[in-house]
Amino acid sequence: MDKILISKCLMGENVKYNGGNNQSDNPILAGWVKEGRAIPICPETEGGLSTPREPSEIQGDKVINCKGCDVTEEFICGARIACQKAKETKAKYALMKQGSPSCGSKTISDGTFTGTKKQGMGIAARLLSDMGVKIFDENEIEKLDKILDK
Ligand code: SF4
Repeated sequence: MDKILISKCLMGENVKYNGGNNQSDNPILAGWVKEGRAIPICPETEGGLSTPREPSEIQGDKVINCKGCDVTEEFICGARIACQKAKETKAKYALMKQGSPSCGSKTISDGTFTGTKKQGMGIAARLLSDMGVKIFDENEIEKLDKILDK
């Protein structure tokens, strides 16, 4: 059975920087959980950051929070943990929150803390993608469901 790494905030866990979540109400996702396909991940908290925490954005090859602290190490650590989980569970797919500096696969904030987005990948999504994991976002649940082994 194909396993899927899934951003914990999409599963309703309050791990978002502001203490909230991004729960998806798509029944397909609930079905994956029931089937035992879902492998929950939150690279930022697993990398050592607390909740709530200051929002962070990628600036060049660093990740900086809105107070100017360098949190690159924590982001990389969390991304490596996600890759380790993918390896252990042989997950070929991931469903990750779009726009996040960790989980975003198509868009991320532009590093100015002004709410401006640009094309790019988050740290964990990039590392997972480099090891061959195919990344989908919360708007592509049906698309991913169609290619899973049943
Ligand atoms: Fe959600 Fe990913 Fe951010 Fe964790 S790191 S709160 S899973 S988007």
